[in-house]
Amino acid sequence: MSAGRSINLALSTRGIHALQQAGLWERMQKIIIPMKGRMMHSMAGELTFQPYGKNDTEVINSISRAELNIALMNAAEELAVTIHFNQRCAAYDLKTGVLRLRNDETGEEVAREAGIVIGCDGSASAIRTEMLKMNRFNLSQQHLDYGYKELTIPAGSNGRHLLETHALHIWPRGSHMLIALPNIDGTFACILFLPFEGAESFASLQTSTQALAFFEARFPDALAIMPHLAENYFANPTGAMVTVKCSPWHVDSRMLLLGDAAHAIVPFFGQGINCGFEDCTILVEMIDRHGTDWLRVFSEFERERKVNTDAIADMAIENFTEMRDRVADPRFLFRKKVELALEAKYPERFVPKYAMVTFHRIPYSVALARGAVQERLLSELCESIDRVENLDWVTADQLIRRELPPLELLQ
Ligand SMILES: Cc1cc2nc3c(=O)[nH]c(=O)nc-3n(C[C@H](O)[C@H](O)[C@H](O)COP(=O)(O)OP(=O)(O)OC[C@H]3O[C@@H](n4cnc5c(N)ncnc54)[C@H](O)[C@@H]3O)c2cc1C
Repeated sequence: MSAGRSINLALSTRGIHALQQAGLWERMQKIIIPMKGRMMHSMAGELTFQPYGKNDTEVINSISRAELNIALMNAAEELAVTIHFNQRCAAYDLKTGVLRLRNDETGEEVAREAGIVIGCDGSASAIRTEMLKMNRFNLSQQHLDYGYKELTIPAGSNGRHLLETHALHIWPRGSHMLIALPNIDGTFACILFLPFEGAESFASLQTSTQALAFFEARFPDALAIMPHLAENYFANPTGAMVTVKCSPWHVDSRMLLLGDAAHAIVPFFGQGINCGFEDCTILVEMIDRHGTDWLRVFSEFERERKVNTDAIADMAIENFTEMRDRVADPRFLFRKKVELALEAKYPERFVPKYAMVTFHRIPYSVALARGAVQERLLSELCESIDRVENLDWVTADQLIRRELPPLELLQ
């Protein structure tokens, strides 16, 4: 169901809210592992823990993609939804709304007159490709020069985790990085991010000896607990990462793109699925408002949502540099401490960008804009200090009251 393809997701407030609305969050409790912060692994194997939020409730939750899929499909079936497996959308007639579906196992193709179609077929959406036949359809696809590969850290004896359980582990190495997310069975799902080409790249690691030597040099403490690294490395595919922006998202009142099909983003803010679930929250709001006036539902949904999905797409790219490089920089870690101190004093005005995106439902476009203002204020306030105690609170107070009006914090 998800073999070889980023088997874990970090689920946070926006996704949780949508699952709560659907009455599904309770049943997810058994399959999530809360992660309280980032655990950085230095080259020398030293560990530094950096909390994600200001307290134990501000956590992100590791969930297996397969377990989440199973829970969602079970819930749909309880509501008498029929799921047809192996039915690949091969074509969609934009004028008539007829879908062509191919059975992946038998090759048999059928035409189906569909009523309303919600196209959630992911970042390489077949439905979206059909929309290229429309007049004035806008599409941009930006691939990273980096790929990713799924790897595994097995469980220790008695199914125990071999690294701290409640953390997202990161081995930041500048031009590349390894991350690991805990699973409920004691294993960790790891993702290696590496350039496709160059001296240290997927192209340069062609043999087991090369892969092992690379890990020995760059991630020695991880290698020590990855006995099947070489097998995993060559068995699993190398994935690409893409940002997709397009418009419109709908064809009249017949079809709407949703999730990655409308707005695929790179995974470095851990927001893809959260953003897709938030699409559902907003779509339901529109249906509550306009009933089955689908043209209105779809066009207002797109108007409200696109500015925000464009914003998270940009923030996700920015966060790549932060994760692979800046999290290891002492100056960056100091700024994070100052951010938390400012948030403690001005909880409704100064909310770190990461928290606005991850622990609140503030529109992404607001998080992007306020994040830029906060970065500027932080630079000014941190310029000549290296201890939080030396912060000039009088200036901080003036700047924050002047530039950051209170936020409405939705959770
Ligand atoms: C390495 C990596 C790590 C990630 N980590 C995170 C994370 O920590 N947190 C987070 O929130 N997000 C994360 N994401 C993003 C997240 O996976 C996506 O945003 C999310 O899965 C999108 O959901 P979706 O339902 O829109 O699309 P998908 O999950 O891609 O689902 C699309 C579905 O459509 C089906 N399909 C495709 N083509 C067709 C067709 N022609 N006909 C019929 N069906 C079709 C597919 O089989 C699939 O079932 C990550 C992504 C990657 C690549």
